[in-house]
Amino acid sequence: MTTEHNNPFLIAQQQFDSAAAILNLPQDIRDLLRVPQRELAVTFPIKMDNGTTQVFTGYRIQHNLGRGPTKGGIRYHPSVDIDEVRALAMWMTWKCALVNLPYGGAKGGVVVDPALLSIGELERLTRRFTTEISIVIGSDQDIPAPDMNTNPQVMAWLMDTISMHAGHTVNAVVTGKPVLVGGSLGRVEATGRGVSLMIREWARRTNRHLNDLTVVVQGFGNVGSITALLTSELGCKIVGIGDATGGYVCEAGLNVAALQAYAAKHPRRSLDGYTADGVMHVSNAELLEYPCTVLVPAAMENQITEQNAGRLQCMVVVEGANGPTTPDGDAILAERGIAVVPDILANAGGVTVSYFEWVQGLQSFFWDERDVNARLEHIMVNAFDQVYELAQEQAISMRLAAYLLAVRRVADANIVRGIYP
Ligand code: NAD
Repeated sequence: MTTEHNNPFLIAQQQFDSAAAILNLPQDIRDLLRVPQRELAVTFPIKMDNGTTQVFTGYRIQHNLGRGPTKGGIRYHPSVDIDEVRALAMWMTWKCALVNLPYGGAKGGVVVDPALLSIGELERLTRRFTTEISIVIGSDQDIPAPDMNTNPQVMAWLMDTISMHAGHTVNAVVTGKPVLVGGSLGRVEATGRGVSLMIREWARRTNRHLNDLTVVVQGFGNVGSITALLTSELGCKIVGIGDATGGYVCEAGLNVAALQAYAAKHPRRSLDGYTADGVMHVSNAELLEYPCTVLVPAAMENQITEQNAGRLQCMVVVEGANGPTTPDGDAILAERGIAVVPDILANAGGVTVSYFEWVQGLQSFFWDERDVNARLEHIMVNAFDQVYELAQEQAISMRLAAYLLAVRRVADANIVRGIYP
C-alpha cells in the first residue's frame, strides 16, 4: 500500500529536488520538471469470458517532452496507481537523458492482475487500453515498451491495434515487439545484459575479480532471470535468486539454467516449489539480507528501506528494478559504505535497445545481434564511466552523480527550447 513514506512519486520528487538544488536550477525549471507534463487516466470496460463486463483503470503519463518523443513501458499490476506511474515516468526522463537517447520519459499502467485473466481477456484488455491511450501515443509522440507483466506478445497486440486504426502497419509505435514483427534482436535480453555490464564495470573499477563475486538477484522475470544468467556467464557465483514466491539460496552457487527451465514449466513462470541439493528456501526479506558481494533488486519499488538497509550484507547494490531503494534506505547504505549503481543507470539497457528497435523500425533496416550488443555495451560503459568519475571527483553517491548529469541535460534542453508562446 502506498503511504506518504513509500509513495514513489514523492521519492522521485525528493531525488529530483536534491539534484536541482546542487545544480542551482532556476525555480521555474524546478517547478516544471518536478511534475509530469501530461497525464491521461482512462476507465474502460472489457467483456469477460463468463459473459460479465469488468471495468478497468489505466494511465499513460508523459513526464517531459523537452528532449524528444517520450518513451517508457506499460505495467500490468494490481498495485499500479497514478503516483507510481508518475514516478516511473519521471525516472524514464532521467534515464533517457543519462544514456543520451533523444527521448523524454513516459510510463503507462493498468490496475490488473493479468494472472487472473484468460489469454483472450488479456488481449481484449490490451487492445482496448491501447485504443484509449492512442490519442497520446505514436511513433514520433510517445512509444511504449514492456514492463512488469507485459511482454513481446502484449506489444504485438498494441502495434496491431494502432496499425488497424491507421490502416497500415505502424511498426515504430512500440518497442519490445517480437522479432517477427519488427522487434530488435537482443531486446529481450537488453535490460539484464546492461545490469550484468554494470556489475562487470563496478568490479573493474574496484579491482575485483569477477570469479570472486557472489550475487543475489531478487526477481526472476525478464530483468532478473537474464541478469542472473549473464552474470553467471561472466564467472560470478549466483548464491540467491527470488521471485514473488520467496528466495532460493545456495552458498555453493545456484544452477541458473535449471531455475530458468523450472520457471518455464510453471504457471506465471514461478519458482514455487523449486528444490535441488544444497538449496534452501527463504523469505524475500531473508533473501535481501543473504551475504553476497552484489545485490540486484530486480522486482518492485521500495525493497531496500530504513527497515532493512542496516542488515544488508553486500558491498554493492545494482538496481535492476526501478525505485527499489528509498531515500532513507539509501542514506543508511551510504553510511555503511555500500555502493549503489542507481536504477537510471543500471537498468538503462532496456530503453537503449528499445531506441535501437525504434531506429531500425523507422529505417526498415535491421541490425544483427552482434551490432546491437556492441552498441549497447558502448553506451552503457560510457554512461557508467561518466557517473563513476563524477561520483569520485565530487565524493558523492553514484545516484546523485547520475541525477546531476541527467537533470542538467533535461533542464538545458528545456531552457534552450524556450517558452512557447
Ligand atoms: P517481470 O514481470 O518480467 O518480472 C517481475 C519479477 O518480480 C517476477 O519474477 C515476480 O515473481 C517478481 N516479484 C513480483 N513481486 C515480487 C515481490 N513482492 N517480491 C519479490 N519478487 C517479486 O518484470 P520485469 O520486466 O523483469 O521488471 C522488473 C523490474 O525491472 C521493474 O521494476 C521494472 O520497472 C524494471 N525494468 C524493466 C525493464 C524491462 O525491459 N523489462 C527495463 C528497465 C527496468
